[in-house]
Amino acid sequence: MAQTVTLIPGDGTGPEVTDSVKEVIEALGVDIEWEVAEAGETVMEEEGTPLPESVLESIRRNKVGLKGPLTTPVGAGFRSVNVALRKELDLYANVRPSLSLPGIEAPFEDIDLIIFRENTEDLYAGVEHMVGEDAAESIKIITRAGTERICRLAFEQSKELGRKHITVAHKANIMKFTDGLFRDVFFEVSKDYENDFEEIDDRIVDNMSMQLVMKPNEYDVVVCPNLYGDILSDICAGLTGGLGVAPGANIGDEIAVFEPVHGSTPKYAGQNRANPLATLQSARTMLEYLEMNEAAERMQKAMEAALESPETRTKDLGGSAGTKEFTQAIISNLE
Ligand code: NAD
Repeated sequence: MAQTVTLIPGDGTGPEVTDSVKEVIEALGVDIEWEVAEAGETVMEEEGTPLPESVLESIRRNKVGLKGPLTTPVGAGFRSVNVALRKELDLYANVRPSLSLPGIEAPFEDIDLIIFRENTEDLYAGVEHMVGEDAAESIKIITRAGTERICRLAFEQSKELGRKHITVAHKANIMKFTDGLFRDVFFEVSKDYENDFEEIDDRIVDNMSMQLVMKPNEYDVVVCPNLYGDILSDICAGLTGGLGVAPGANIGDEIAVFEPVHGSTPKYAGQNRANPLATLQSARTMLEYLEMNEAAERMQKAMEAALESPETRTKDLGGSAGTKEFTQAIISNLE
């Protein structure tokens, strides 16, 4: 029976990078049916909301989604649909792997890191208001339950993957209550995994940022609250070739939505310029989640082969290919 997956094409370059996924999945011969659900800027104009209930219903029904990037207006305008989706569906873990790939010029080789970012709390909860006309206040929310489930998932998945070093990034020296709670709960959970890891440690997030750009190979898995995870994962994307290559997954207890780390890059929209690799890598992770491992492996090999030559790499990776040419190169490399 075909697996139905909700597909949100997204804004800006989203439709181009998700089209690339559709073509590659079709060429792979995987039995996936896409249920397209539109969200974002264009829907806002037509329906008065950027996240119609039908989109959430589709994901709840299918349990699996693939999402292109969605635009969030800066300052005024509607709140982030990405954040709303994660909260509405309780996708509490944002898993962002960072892996060096062949043919990509990057500051480091052999990077193989995973960031587990808490996805529903922290300053990202968006609980903020004006205090009079000239001050604004945002409330940072960290709960024991919210922290415990992201930490446990990070330990469980890292153990399964044979990872040996797990680090919590925080700012508990300054935010003693909120980040202090996150750090404490991480170490409480770690007691159940002491025999599975060689190193279980912590870093203050500013130091963590420096360590990641100077000696990323010393790290393996990083667990952190929402906002630090957002920033650290873009740093890690930079270490492996930029936002065009960084995949992500939003995981809950029953539902998962896969999406690239990057945004909608409106300046490249409709120009055959966006690198679809991050979305393709997210789709590859989705195949693994669906236990279609053989197809995931074939897809990965074809992507790596297409990356070998500058003629079939996209411009952000020093190549000359457009979105479509790169996609075709992957398809012709499928075995
Ligand atoms: P962005 O990720 O869209 O772009 C930042 C830069 O990264 C681009 O200028 C480009 O040089 C590079 N880049 C990103 N994706 C690329 C790709 N696929 N191929 C080649 N180069 C790529 O970030 P931004 O400009 O800060 O945000 C644009 C919009 O996207 C905003 O509205 C923002 O809110 C939204 N956004 C959405 C998500 C999401 O949907 N999960 C994530 C981040 C930002």
